[in-house]
Amino acid sequence: MDLFYKKENGWKDCDEKDKIFDFAEGYKKFLDSAKTEREFAKKTVEEAEKQGFKPLDSFTKLSAGDKVYRVNRGKGVMLVVIGSEDIENGSNIVGAHIDSPRLDLKPSPVYEDSEMALFKTHYYGGIKKYQWTAIPLAMHGTVVKNNGETVEIAFGDEGDDIAFTITDLLPHLADEQYKKTVGKAIEGEALNILIGSIPLDDEEEKEPVKAAVLQILNDKFGICEEDFLSAEIEFVPNYNMKDIGLDRSFVGGAGQDDRVCAYTSLQAIFEITKPSKTAVCLLVDKEEIGSMGVTGMMSRFFENTMAEICAKIKPYNDLVLRRCLSNSTCLSADVCAMHDPNYPSVLEKNNAAKAGYGVAIMKYTGARGKSGASDASAELMGKIRKIFNDAGVLWQVAELGKIDLGGGGTISQYVANLDIDTVDCGVPVLSMHSPYEVTSKMDIYNAYKGYKAFMK
Ligand code: MN
Ligand code: MN
Repeated sequence: MDLFYKKENGWKDCDEKDKIFDFAEGYKKFLDSAKTEREFAKKTVEEAEKQGFKPLDSFTKLSAGDKVYRVNRGKGVMLVVIGSEDIENGSNIVGAHIDSPRLDLKPSPVYEDSEMALFKTHYYGGIKKYQWTAIPLAMHGTVVKNNGETVEIAFGDEGDDIAFTITDLLPHLADEQYKKTVGKAIEGEALNILIGSIPLDDEEEKEPVKAAVLQILNDKFGICEEDFLSAEIEFVPNYNMKDIGLDRSFVGGAGQDDRVCAYTSLQAIFEITKPSKTAVCLLVDKEEIGSMGVTGMMSRFFENTMAEICAKIKPYNDLVLRRCLSNSTCLSADVCAMHDPNYPSVLEKNNAAKAGYGVAIMKYTGARGKSGASDASAELMGKIRKIFNDAGVLWQVAELGKIDLGGGGTISQYVANLDIDTVDCGVPVLSMHSPYEVTSKMDIYNAYKGYKAFMK
């Protein structure tokens, strides 16, 4: 019996390196084509259909082995593989979120100042505002026109010949800015995106540059200024995912919180064929702003969809659903902080996730006395520990940070509120919420392996 708990660096004597690197190639490619929650949901459906998943509503009856999905308003997806056991025995759920910190356009965003045209933004999620200036951005979103027509926008990405950016103050003139705290150095209302400077050739026009950019938007997308009132347009880093490091052991890019867990759980459920318990991959929106709203985890979407599934399996009454939920188990698949040698003081080293040490299980999140956390039970930790150990998954434990420093939340508490045993389990990330997040290929691969073992 080993008296000591030994953590292992997965790269040592690693015989799966090719598989791990190959897996990361698929991951990078997927994220390059899914830079918003809507794009991720759309791509998920495309891939799921290739894997034999069909819309839930196309079934009148469901039986073991059936693969179904349902989309929540274009921004979330639930994928299900029906198990052979009674649905009342519960399901195994892996839940991740597909929204990420970014800059949203305000409802009335276009303005002209000093003969330049700009977009006003309202940032989404917890960002360090200074990180979003002076980097190339792309424009992605959906516009619903007055006639009901929907326009999808995606341009300014790597490979396109234009990009967008938010300007920053030159250091030569930044004396006053330097005196401010990091949080105040760039104000939210200063995150304005540069979009043009050539005025329309019309003496009468009071805002000729604004008029000119509106004309370009109209030529390109058939939209007018009022259409922004019924639009969701996000500005995201415009570059693609890259390998990081001389040894290519890391992946760098935006939106890895939490698309790294979404992608790995998706690949995992694609390989589930005949589970005993029903397997669920739940991809939700709005986690970064508190999981509220109709596409967030607090929405009844999950429960309602589960009810539909129960009703297609056996004669339905409310108890069937209640028992199904009550007997379910969930891995809240979300990222955690990775130990960073540049900032060693914020994590406590025995309980901090390290690069290459595998997927991280967080018994609790929260801050300052576990406040706001869904604290998983010893029984659940024991169950997951055994599943992972039996399947040869490389895993580690993690906390979100030193006790009195801070913390955060995930969807786990909202899933747990449904009477479902839930624990956080995901990929450690460096520079989380920045426009250039970094993850380890070893940890990505083991998240996929862990989710698969859990749903099997
Ligand atoms: Mn997250
Ligand atoms: Mn986050």
